[in-house]
Amino acid sequence: MNKHEVADIVVIGGGAVGTAVAACLAREGAQVALVELGEFAWGSSRRCDGHAVTYDSPPGYFSRFCKMGLDLFPQFAPLLPCDIEFTPEGLGLLVDNENDLETVRATYEGKKNEGVPVELWEQDELRRREPNVADHVVACLNFMGDAKLNPMRLAFGLAHMAKGHGANLFTRTRVTNIVVENGQLARVETTNGTIATQKVVLCAGVWTPELAAMAGVQVPIRPRQGQILVTERLQGLVGKNYAEYGYLAAKGGVARTGVTPEMERFGVAFVVEPSHAGTVLVGSSRRFVGMDIAPHPEVMRAIASRATHFFPKFSQTRIIRAYAGLRPASPDGKPIISPTHIQGVYVAAGHEGNGIGLSLITGTLVSQMLQGLEPAIELGPLHIDRFGLNPPALPAQA
Ligand SMILES: Cc1cc2nc3c(=O)[nH]c(=O)nc-3n(C[C@H](O)[C@H](O)[C@H](O)COP(=O)(O)OP(=O)(O)OC[C@H]3O[C@@H](n4cnc5c(N)ncnc54)[C@H](O)[C@@H]3O)c2cc1C
Repeated sequence: MNKHEVADIVVIGGGAVGTAVAACLAREGAQVALVELGEFAWGSSRRCDGHAVTYDSPPGYFSRFCKMGLDLFPQFAPLLPCDIEFTPEGLGLLVDNENDLETVRATYEGKKNEGVPVELWEQDELRRREPNVADHVVACLNFMGDAKLNPMRLAFGLAHMAKGHGANLFTRTRVTNIVVENGQLARVETTNGTIATQKVVLCAGVWTPELAAMAGVQVPIRPRQGQILVTERLQGLVGKNYAEYGYLAAKGGVARTGVTPEMERFGVAFVVEPSHAGTVLVGSSRRFVGMDIAPHPEVMRAIASRATHFFPKFSQTRIIRAYAGLRPASPDGKPIISPTHIQGVYVAAGHEGNGIGLSLITGTLVSQMLQGLEPAIELGPLHIDRFGLNPPALPAQA
């Protein structure tokens, strides 16, 4: 970086969201500077699963939004300079409580009406396809188009797609100040120099509140920790991605029946992703413990125990490592994709457990917003004003 750079738009944060925003803006001809304090996928985007999914939201606005996000991956994958391991092999929601079957059937109908490809397998069909599933699993709601991918490859690929369209990539560069003069963005200061600009997009996940505060904007995002266990390489134990039906309740912070006090306390719900490398990622948990990313043995035990509840053969499997990451959680669990009351300051953050799957739709929407185009989906439910913390946001400016 030169001591004094100039850019049309500065994107702060090189995770899945920031790299997608940079790629979409650069593709439309904007002169973009992407600033990341570490390397790409330095934050939450390397400490997560890689699901791009429709299963984890009830039918409605957010479900349609997730489907739009998922549908963009086949379009973008061929444009990226590396294989992101995008695999639309589907994800099944495992139902272990007969009492849930009525709501599962309603979800099936609602999702089907939204155009999500779903299939409901009764117990016999499930056992035929997944012989290792536990006997008490009574049904499985399958989201046939749900996918997995490699989030680190995604962020790297998108950053280099942005570069291919003329973006300047500044890694190992920390933003230290966002300077506003007369109510309008003037420049972004970093550890390596200053970037004069009229627009900045804050894509810093759980770090967005501290960056926004530099510009006088309050962004209500809290880190919601989640842990993952990684097994040794396995063959045939589990055929594809699954989650338990109770995952939706754990995500929504709703009390569940039939789980241990530890599972409730740590927000543990089973989710599994067989990786391309042959290992299996087993999760996960949800708790608010600040910026702590140390895996906790008690939480790991609760996750392992829940995994054996659904696939008993996990009890004969070795865990080779564990990690924790931070979901950027807004008060309603939905992202903030919005202008703010400071001219030129925009936010694209707070995707909780969906930031990988929603990265491309977020980049697309920010690009449409900054070009003054009609957004692909109504942006009201994602607007920062819904929290009432700041003066009303100004309209986005092309
Ligand atoms: C256990 C777990 C499982 C998950 N599973 C999934 C899943 O299957 N599918 C899914 O879609 N999502 C999943 N998520 C959520 C997902 O990880 C996040 O939503 C997503 O990574 C957020 O991406 P981001 O780009 O907004 O933030 P980040 O990836 O955190 O990127 C923000 C970047 O900003 C940088 N930064 C911070 N401060 C500064 C500064 N001052 N200057 C410059 N740069 C700065 C950081 O270094 C970081 O790289 C999971 C999360 C967890 C914890």
